[in-house]
Amino acid sequence: MARIVMKFGGTSVADLDRIANAAGRVKRAVEAGDEVAVVVSAMAGVTNQLVGYVDKTSRVYDAREYDAVVASGEQVTAGLMALRLQELGVAARSWHGWQIPIRTNEVHGKARIEEIGTDNLDPRLKSGEVAVIAGFQGVSPRGRITTLGRGGSDTTAVALAAALKADRCDIYTDVDGVYTTDPRIVAKARKLERISHEEMLEMASLGAKVLQTRSVELAMNHGVRLQVLSSFEDKPGTLVVDEEEIVEQQVVSGIAYSRDEAKITLVKVADKPGVAASIFGPLADAAVNVDMIVQSVSSDGQRTDMTFTVAKTDLDRAVKTLEENRAAIEYEQLIADPDVVKISVIGVGMRSHAGVAQTMFRTLAEKGINIQVISTSEIKISTLVGEEYTELAIRALHSAYGLDTAA
Ligand code: ADP
Ligand code: ASP
Ligand code: MG
Repeated sequence: MARIVMKFGGTSVADLDRIANAAGRVKRAVEAGDEVAVVVSAMAGVTNQLVGYVDKTSRVYDAREYDAVVASGEQVTAGLMALRLQELGVAARSWHGWQIPIRTNEVHGKARIEEIGTDNLDPRLKSGEVAVIAGFQGVSPRGRITTLGRGGSDTTAVALAAALKADRCDIYTDVDGVYTTDPRIVAKARKLERISHEEMLEMASLGAKVLQTRSVELAMNHGVRLQVLSSFEDKPGTLVVDEEEIVEQQVVSGIAYSRDEAKITLVKVADKPGVAASIFGPLADAAVNVDMIVQSVSSDGQRTDMTFTVAKTDLDRAVKTLEENRAAIEYEQLIADPDVVKISVIGVGMRSHAGVAQTMFRTLAEKGINIQVISTSEIKISTLVGEEYTELAIRALHSAYGLDTAA
């Protein structure tokens, strides 16, 4: 007998038939004697629709009301899942974030979980009742609904698994595991039996949507046994494990991409001390996160170009902030380009192998793809290229690093 958290994503609960299918899986676990907490997402497409409603209704962004609206998708699924389980003869009850409670900070729209109470759930799980929890939401110190950022139901699941001391946290989704890259882009992508926390963390934060970054961080810090698997097929998925548990370590284990970034170039800024601070200070004050940065060599020692990336959703705010500060920064021209993609290769093997970056640059060059910005860390290399090259670049890199399946 084990205690498990089973999380079903949007496509796995997309309609009543799929909710019934997921409920069938829960029932089997209960019949096997397991104590089960289920975390559900909104039905596929619902969260996007709710976000659209908010955008169309109000130009004033009030994050508290955004949360009040977008958290509702998960509430519908939780109630329907509990009803379906009851129909199958399984004792079940739905739970909203505040009822548990899942306490978060007050950063509406991307709140962080601070504490989860277990007094309500613990005895019910022990008595054999299934708890069906609305993912993606929590409650702020002031008692208002918060949401955890897009894809946040993964984080609800892992945080609950940690709080409930569950033996496993199973993330059921529309792919049967974590692949070497997005299987929707590369048909030859290979499923990984295991992936290390560090690599999964990089993959997620660099764009692989299969797990929310924060969920991987929590699993790593709390020792939650995390698995990604298919809700449609019965086969083993991918285990996210400690690095030592990986037997055959590749130099590069995966490729991720993100279309969520935009590029800004400030042409001819003064090449003098303090200029970076004059650009990035106001952006930070406007809550714009800057990711990749390059400063070109100044030809005359007077002026230089500064290029950097921000989240696409922050682009308008970033441009407005820079225009307001134009006099202090002293740039000649501002060029904003949203049509870029960040492509990253990831692997802990990079720590001990040279030449990984060179392979990336050569492969892109051979395909005639211009690299606009580069950034690196210990276990990843990211390049920014034109969005139109997304598929071409990822497929070429996937082959170049020997990641393609044999078949
Ligand atoms: P859910 O609704 O179940 O949370 P998501 O859409 O958030 O599912 O995540 C699953 C999707 O992640 C897959 O359909 C796949 O297209 C995408 N994905 C991106 N990178 C990867 C990867 N490396 N391995 C598996 N899936 C990936
Ligand atoms: N429904 C939310 C979203 O679409 C949370 C999730 O599915 O994980 O972002
Ligand atoms: Mg998801």
